[in-house]
Amino acid sequence: MTPSPLRLRALLLMLLLGLAVLAEEAWNYAASRRHEIVSIQEGMANLARSVAQETESNIAMADVALVGFAQAMQSDKAALDQAQGHLWSQLETQPLLRSLALQDAGGRLLTGLAARHGQVLPEKPVFLAPPAEIEQHLQRPGWKLQVGAPQRAPGDDGWIIPLSRRFEDADGRLAGLVVAALDLGALEERLGGFALGRQGSIALIRDDGLLLGRFPSMASALGRHFDFAALDEAGLGGPSGRTDYVSPIDGRRRVGAYHISPRYGVGVGAARELREALAAWTLRAWVRLAVVAVLLLGSLTLGLHLTRQVLRRRAAEAARLASEAHFRLLAEHASDMVARLGPDGRFRYVSPAAQRLLGAAPAALLGRAIAEVALEEDRPALALALAEAGHPGCQGQVAFRVAREDGGTAWIETTLQRVQESGEGDGYVTVSRDVTARRALEEELSALATTDGLTGLANRRHLDEALARAWQQAVERGAPLAVLLLDIDHFKLFNDQYGHPAGDAALRATAGAIRRCIRDKDDLAARYGGEEFAVILPGAEAAGAARVAERVRQAIAGLAIPHARHPLGHVTASIGIAALLPAAQLAAAADAPDDGAPAAPPGPEQLLAAADAALYEAKRQGRNRTIAA
Ligand code: GH3
Ligand code: MG
Ligand code: MG
Repeated sequence: MTPSPLRLRALLLMLLLGLAVLAEEAWNYAASRRHEIVSIQEGMANLARSVAQETESNIAMADVALVGFAQAMQSDKAALDQAQGHLWSQLETQPLLRSLALQDAGGRLLTGLAARHGQVLPEKPVFLAPPAEIEQHLQRPGWKLQVGAPQRAPGDDGWIIPLSRRFEDADGRLAGLVVAALDLGALEERLGGFALGRQGSIALIRDDGLLLGRFPSMASALGRHFDFAALDEAGLGGPSGRTDYVSPIDGRRRVGAYHISPRYGVGVGAARELREALAAWTLRAWVRLAVVAVLLLGSLTLGLHLTRQVLRRRAAEAARLASEAHFRLLAEHASDMVARLGPDGRFRYVSPAAQRLLGAAPAALLGRAIAEVALEEDRPALALALAEAGHPGCQGQVAFRVAREDGGTAWIETTLQRVQESGEGDGYVTVSRDVTARRALEEELSALATTDGLTGLANRRHLDEALARAWQQAVERGAPLAVLLLDIDHFKLFNDQYGHPAGDAALRATAGAIRRCIRDKDDLAARYGGEEFAVILPGAEAAGAARVAERVRQAIAGLAIPHARHPLGHVTASIGIAALLPAAQLAAAADAPDDGAPAAPPGPEQLLAAADAALYEAKRQGRNRTIAA
């Protein structure tokens, strides 16, 4: 099946709509994801700033001890001795300090003390700045605190971050360093207290990119330099910024922020792993995507369903139009006339065949009652058929005549069917056809069925029916009824003499003679069988019947058909006459005393039997005569 253009268009439209929705959704996702990332970064920025401040204050506290130490060293030795006790107490109050030491420019320990978690440990070795550190101070004279790269604590006991300040001799040359060791392990432990997820990281950094410490702790990365400008999302590498980077340490993509406090050039970078940080958002996005997908699929299905409905309705409409066209074609071109009548029996639609059948244009018939098209005398039959068709489940059928334009009449046969639909459909449907030719044929056939083939008179069957009818009428009217029975004399001899064809001709001539002697309208002449004929004379009394009989006998003799073996030399006939009053016969039969034997009621057979007896008598008396019963 090739998809229809409508379906294709609908599908295309729905796809476009779907794409538009998806595009909008995608844009939304991108924006929302960006927003989510920015808010993660903001959280990280706040965290980095506050941790950086805390670290700064930790360093500042240690620096207070260093500054005191350095100033004392520079003024006089006695002050140092005095201050020493006080300075060592710093180790007890600052648990992050692992040691405080004083070393000369050559790196030799002048004095120092180690501690752990605020507890002074005099026997433990103190941390001394390595030569590289001293070199830095030589290169950068000044009172600035120097934050060094992470170092192993003496005795390989964890990691520390060295903080150092210089002190000078009277000539302003580097005389030595005061060095504090910050406990990196404790610092990293503090960093671990923040909720950064399983893959998040937080790091202590120096403004030149040096990694001072990290949580989760990673000794191998300590002391490495990282390119801030590369990590910074904005590419600036300024004192603070946002990051979105693939970690050079573990290869994970992280988003976050960093903040360097300018006082010591030390800061904090905090970041969360992107995938982990977006997990909740991703779940929400998937759920939303699923909902959108379901909605889209639903709309698509609904759209397709609606399209199918529309197509189906269109197809149905097309089929309806086509079938209407078919019916119109049938109605318009059928030889039968198809018509619709309203409930009042008036034409609402008439097919063109009306012109041929009724001799009237369809338009001229509209609004007229169907009965009006029939001849006056057939209208009641038509009205009756209409009434019959009005009964539920019934069909009316009627044949009626219409006047033809040429002056003749035509027979129309109509079938009427009641149609009961609301509104316009209510009324009748009629189918009419011209049955004039069929009627003529039927009449001819029926004539053939009642006529004797040889003589053209009524046949025996017709005679019996007509006699029964005549008897009945005579009874009803109280009128007399007469019958003549006629037999040709010596006809066997005629046949013998002249042959059968001549006999047939003689029979035809005799029939003609009989027909001429009777009245066309009421009387009936019939061939009774062989060379015997019968005549029914309704209303004739004995005298009248005898007159007709005599006339017939003379007419036959008058034909003068030669008959060599007849004593008179021509064809003659003998006639028996029977006349009676059927009503009187019936009355007499009713009055007759019942003698036990069942008597046949009087009827036409009685009349025929009487005529036959009279005929027999005529033959006996010498033929060519009429005898009344
Ligand atoms: P009767 O005077 O006593 O009537 O003598 P009949 O010879 O006429 O006697 P019957 O009535 O017995 O003879 C009837 C004859 O009529 C017999 C038959 O040859 C002849 N016949 C009967 N029907 C036809 C017919 O259709 N055509 C011809 N040609 N002859 C017929
Ligand atoms: Mg006979
Ligand atoms: Mg005869």
